Amino acid sequence: MGDLFRCGKCWKTFDSDKLRVLPGVRCPYCGYNIIYMIRKPTIKAVKAI
Ligand SMILES: [Zn+2]
Repeated sequence: MGDLFRCGKCWKTFDSDKLRVLPGVRCPYCGYNIIYMIRKPTIKAVKAI
């Protein structure tokens, strides 16, 4: 388990384990410091209102 993160620059995704290794919140691939947290892709249906 763990959340997924997405880099705001290179748009690669990585999990929180990789993120934790680095000091601060940075992309482990390109070092960009704007990271979006995205939900773990679970199979969940959402009804449209
Ligand atoms: Zn990146």
